[in-house]
Amino acid sequence: MHKKTLLISTAFIVLICFSLIIPATSLARSGKVGNPQPEGPLGQLTCIDKIDNDLDGNIDADDDDCKKELNAKVILVEFSDKLHRQQHNKRYYEKKIISDLVSYHKENSFGQVILQESFDFITPNHGEWFKLENKKEDDYDDGSDKGDIQQFFADVISLVESATSFRLSALDEKKDVLIIVYSEAWNDRTAWPIKGPLTTCAALWYKTDGVITKCSEGNYKEAGLSIIFLSENNKFSTWAHEIGHTIGAFDLYEAGNVSKWGLMGKGWGKNPPHMTSYMKWSLQWLNYNSIEYGTYWINSLVTSNFGDYVQRYVINEDKYYVLEVRTNDIQYSDWDRYAPNDALVLYQVDESGEEPNINIPSYGVLKAKKSFKDIFLKVRKSFTDCDNNVKFTALEVDKSNNKYQIKVKIEKTEPEDCD
Ligand SMILES: [Zn+2]
Repeated sequence: MHKKTLLISTAFIVLICFSLIIPATSLARSGKVGNPQPEGPLGQLTCIDKIDNDLDGNIDADDDDCKKELNAKVILVEFSDKLHRQQHNKRYYEKKIISDLVSYHKENSFGQVILQESFDFITPNHGEWFKLENKKEDDYDDGSDKGDIQQFFADVISLVESATSFRLSALDEKKDVLIIVYSEAWNDRTAWPIKGPLTTCAALWYKTDGVITKCSEGNYKEAGLSIIFLSENNKFSTWAHEIGHTIGAFDLYEAGNVSKWGLMGKGWGKNPPHMTSYMKWSLQWLNYNSIEYGTYWINSLVTSNFGDYVQRYVINEDKYYVLEVRTNDIQYSDWDRYAPNDALVLYQVDESGEEPNINIPSYGVLKAKKSFKDIFLKVRKSFTDCDNNVKFTALEVDKSNNKYQIKVKIEKTEPEDCD
């Protein structure tokens, strides 16, 4: 890229940085047990509130910073030596991905995240894909596992701005999400994409230096303008995950083993289930309630409502269990039918480190009644934590009143449990 272009891009970045307002993602909460404030103090916005804490005339949950209405803009761009697959046109993305994205994020967020129904495709005069005429795919191979996203981004913006009326500086960092889809080779023999040098990620501007943060690793609470980079071959689930980052959700796949139980885990295949209750709490859609030894009905994630309580069993200031009921019964939800099982899932949360660690212990997925196939999965009726003197048992399921609940008994361990 020419030096002059780089200077122009930097100027836009500076412009954006000056106009930054604290985004809603900065409201994500810490899970410290000592700080389980369901309602913020008067004068302070707390998105979960059904009252008007910040005294602006709206209940807090309806405030602009909490209810996220997002406009997505899509740029399709190919390298001079890697043309896109013919079937990957605007219509393909609209039909196969975008309508599901709108539906997924609406259901998952209790209606708090609204993506505009039709995404705005920025297109060149002829056709739908831009072409980086002087750039080959490997020009962005800088030896790292993410590729030179920074240079790629600068080149794409300079190309698109020279060919259209699109201006990066005109984007609204609170509402706009910019999605850049790049071409990627496809091996017809194995029907599997050949990974190029660039990564799939959601990147956000840092306020201080205007440089794209490390993709999928950054501190999303510092978010500015949201930019998503995707390969043309990425499926719906990856798009949904990256949009998750732009609304403040963080990766859980390296901080524990949430895996198929949540969008921010990994391994869900084609269709993702909902985000876990931990993440929904962190995004201020659900509250926390602490419970002790006793017997409780736990309502499922998909039959809960905005502002409902997630139950947790507290071990100490930094450690607690989140008790979450999931059902993949199609009658309750369009998206959590992709959850792995109907079960009570126990998450061990450890907030003592810099980032929280969320771990489903071995045999921490409980069923009141096991089916034949559960014998082959790691599913049991009880889970015992002998280090912390607690035993959880799934007792029964209740499906009345449009709810799906599991009754759980939390008790002190007996010596024979821990032999
Ligand atoms: Zn991620």
